[in-house]
Amino acid sequence: MKSSKNSPAFEAGLIGKPVSHSLSPKLFSVLSWLLGRTIRYKAWEVDPGNLKAALKRFEKEGFAGLNVTIPHKQSAFKSAARLTPEARAIGAVNVLRFSPGGLKGHNTDAAGFGDALAAVDFKARGKDALIFGAGGAARAVGYALGRAGARRVRFVGRTPRRAQETARALEARFSRTRFEVGPAVPAALWVNATPLGMKGFARRSPAPVEMACDLAFDLVYGRRTPFLMRAKARRIKACDGLSMLVYQALRAWEFWTRPLGAVRRKNLHDQIIGELKWH
Ligand code: NAP
Repeated sequence: MKSSKNSPAFEAGLIGKPVSHSLSPKLFSVLSWLLGRTIRYKAWEVDPGNLKAALKRFEKEGFAGLNVTIPHKQSAFKSAARLTPEARAIGAVNVLRFSPGGLKGHNTDAAGFGDALAAVDFKARGKDALIFGAGGAARAVGYALGRAGARRVRFVGRTPRRAQETARALEARFSRTRFEVGPAVPAALWVNATPLGMKGFARRSPAPVEMACDLAFDLVYGRRTPFLMRAKARRIKACDGLSMLVYQALRAWEFWTRPLGAVRRKNLHDQIIGELKWH
């Protein structure tokens, strides 16, 4: 760890509603300690109608950037003057950077998911995947799988029209991968990209009881969700969304500062996961 005495404090935060449950402030406080750099990071509750005014205030106060969560991911996408290709294809922004060229929007959920898959040694190239849900996170997961060269990605959505829109948006971006909509079928990877399993939906899973995959990946983190428990009962490899959360945060840090490189990113990820277990 380096000394933080000479570096100026880095100001960033999370905006959303609600934000009280968020792990991000703890995560960035651990990162601050590991990097030996003062990172001032807080979660701020912002009402949907107040986003523009809040962004102006954060910029004026010298913030480097912000993470964005529900319900602002689409509005942040519209508010950004510039977008990265990931944000444009996914249609949602989970990180913003204040810069002289204007507010820049990016999406690190896709790369975070890709990093988390790599951490459990899952290679999506040429494989079939099923994604439950068709919202912003499902789109980010589909983007990561398209980028990794998956053969087929099927969205199992509650609202067929939304699932179709998601599949079409990604089809236009990745010609090698077939994006489709339909009921659950066996596949190498099943992903829960719905809130089912979270507080309020704790006893529910979007997947059939008879799970048929090699890896079950739940974006929900820190909970024994029915999706994960059913996978484990069938001796299917299962992982929750904590690793993705940490990786998307590290990718946000890189977007605000500079690239860490794969080895450093993985080391920081492992150390953060270890520290978070003590909180
Ligand atoms: P979102 O845009 O609101 O999309 C949620 C999706 O889940 C929609 O397709 C919705 O269906 C579906 N859904 C909601 N309630 C449902 C129900 N009762 N039954 C069946 N489907 C239901 O949310 P999001 O941003 O994609 O986030 C989805 C989940 O991923 C959340 O739990 C979020 O916390 C998690 N997440 C985790 C990470 C991480 O780093 N681990 C990152 C991002 C998101 P409709 O299409 O019908 O609305």
